[in-house]
Amino acid sequence: MAVTIKDLDVKEKIQWCPGCGNHALISSLKGAIAELNLPQHDTVIASGIGCSSKLPHYVNTYGFEGIHGRPLPVASAIKLANTKLTVIAVGGDGDGYGIGVQHFVHIMRRNYNLTYIVHDNQIYGLTTGQASPTSQLGMKTKTTPWGVIEEPFKPLAVAINGGATFVARGYAGDPVHLKELFKQAIQHQGFAFVDVFQPCVTFNKLNTYPWFQERVYKLEDHDVTDRWAALKKAYEDSETEYKKVPIGVFYKVDKPTYESQLPQIKKKTLVEQDIENIDITEAYKEFE
Ligand code: SF4
Ligand code: MG
Repeated sequence: MAVTIKDLDVKEKIQWCPGCGNHALISSLKGAIAELNLPQHDTVIASGIGCSSKLPHYVNTYGFEGIHGRPLPVASAIKLANTKLTVIAVGGDGDGYGIGVQHFVHIMRRNYNLTYIVHDNQIYGLTTGQASPTSQLGMKTKTTPWGVIEEPFKPLAVAINGGATFVARGYAGDPVHLKELFKQAIQHQGFAFVDVFQPCVTFNKLNTYPWFQERVYKLEDHDVTDRWAALKKAYEDSETEYKKVPIGVFYKVDKPTYESQLPQIKKKTLVEQDIENIDITEAYKEFE
């Protein structure tokens, strides 16, 4: 007997461990989408591979689960094809800061109008607990039995220096605050990046909810237009040996988006353009 989408009970298919930070993260994202009244048929979520990247399966918008580390190329191509869509890219710290870091670096400096959310659990969860680029120094994992000795990747500092025009960090243990961050990121006109502390309760026994509860605080009286103040805050966690871990909006600046400067799509989106009568004679000759 044929099985259709209607036969699937999506709730029962969620494959995240009980207590995983992904549950709160997705409810914050759904809340943001609902409160911004984003039409589901005009919203697309693209992901890579990992526990995080199952997210598009569980949200009732369009979705595209791609390959490891590649949510940003997919998301930016979708945006270029149809600039009227709200486009959100999601992935994990291994996906985005390891396998796909070259896309992060180059796509953020183009300033496409899209939102990039990283579920940062500081470990590879889906592959059962290897060190990721954001695993803390000294952390013991399957691949670092004597502790991490590499300097951890600093996503916020990289984004502030790299051209992202909205840079924020949230925490899955504070889903109301996280929802507000997502709303601001989605509304921002340009590349909005949100790194989210998302406890992996199964494999990361260091960065647990109690660990974050003791350290996380919300940024207040912080000038988001001051790049140097933002950078200082981005280093505060490691500089204080993780005694103070700020969350909130670190940096925000208004700049023209990449797509707004493309003459080819000034009048009409790519998908609205008629390609029936384009003369391809010269291009065709090359393949004759
Ligand atoms: Fe969440 Fe970790 Fe389980 Fe993956 S392995 S679903 S990140 S708790
Ligand atoms: Mg991870």
